[in-house]
Amino acid sequence: MSPTTKKATSKVVKKKVVAKKAPGKKPVAKKAPAKKSAAKKAPGKKPVAKKTPAKKTTKSTSAQSKALAAKKAKQLKLAADKKKKLAQQVAAKRAKELQAAKLLKIKKAKELKAAKMLQAKKAREAQLIKAKKLREAKELQAKKAKELQLLKAKKARKAAAQAAAKRVAARLKAQAIAKAKKDREIAIKVAAKKKAQEAKAKAQAAVKAKREREIKARIAAREAVVRRKAKEKAMAEAKKLRDQEAKVKAKEAEKLRKQREIDRLNKVEADRVARREAEELKRLEALDRKKNSKPYAGDLAFLEELRELLIAERLVTAAQVADSDAKAEEMLVDRERLEYDDEDGSSVASDIERDQAKEYAAQLRLKTDEIDVALARVADGSYGRCDECYESIGRDRLRFQVPVFLCLKCRANV
Ligand SMILES: [Zn+2]
Repeated sequence: MSPTTKKATSKVVKKKVVAKKAPGKKPVAKKAPAKKSAAKKAPGKKPVAKKTPAKKTTKSTSAQSKALAAKKAKQLKLAADKKKKLAQQVAAKRAKELQAAKLLKIKKAKELKAAKMLQAKKAREAQLIKAKKLREAKELQAKKAKELQLLKAKKARKAAAQAAAKRVAARLKAQAIAKAKKDREIAIKVAAKKKAQEAKAKAQAAVKAKREREIKARIAAREAVVRRKAKEKAMAEAKKLRDQEAKVKAKEAEKLRKQREIDRLNKVEADRVARREAEELKRLEALDRKKNSKPYAGDLAFLEELRELLIAERLVTAAQVADSDAKAEEMLVDRERLEYDDEDGSSVASDIERDQAKEYAAQLRLKTDEIDVALARVADGSYGRCDECYESIGRDRLRFQVPVFLCLKCRANV
């Protein structure tokens, strides 16, 4: 019973020691005696059982590890029991003196081993502590260096941050200035643009208004022109109509006048024609009467007297013609004879004489023919009428000139 309680207590102590060990430095020295006492007490009782738990205690720290240790201890216990039994069996088999010696030997070896192990443990612990201290020092140094570095870095960062902030601020300022400038420019531009747009809009509006005015004026002018033209056209048409009517009237009047004039002229002409025709008829009748007049038809004695005169004249004329012909014949014979011995040109003179004779004969023959005509007229009673004016020829002239066909007046006009 007592060993187990002690074990438990030692365990607790150890645990405490271990816990105290990290922060402090001296506990290591204090701990050693406790451990030693535990080691010294152990040999007296059951070393196997005691050792394992001690080892286990150093390693296990948590409840889990405790349970594991307990289990292990159980296993170990079982093994130990087995071993014990085996040893008991061996011991039973071998001699009892061997058992004692063996036990002693084992015990000694166990003690040696335990001592060795303790020493090794101590050395390990010392090493561990040393290493820990070194590590801690190093860590501290490293920590300090790190802190310094960190501080430096922090400073540098701070400076960098400040510089960056400065730069940023400067940049921001520059940007702000630039932006302000840009904004100003934009504002100016916008203002200018706006102004220009306004001016443009104004100009456009003015142009538009002007155009509209112009269009209105043009439309008004066009309308006025249209109205004027329509008026003019209407007036012109009215005038044309009037003119046409007047023209028609004038034409009709002119036509009427002309027709009247024509009628009048026609009437005048018809009257004149009728008058002329009547005159002509009268004249023709008179002429006919004159032409067919027989001035001395009633005076048969006078006609007989004229007939006798004519016959007498015809006889004379016929005798003259015969005489003349004979003369011409004679002359021709003379001429033929003269042609043979013409020395003094007497033949030429004879020719002229002959031609004269012939001419005379021809005249006489014509007279004969005229007398025959006159005799025929005496027979129908028309002798004594002028062939030109159809008036009667005087009795004296008829008796004196045989034959005669023209009155004294007409004879003088020939
Ligand atoms: Zn006459």
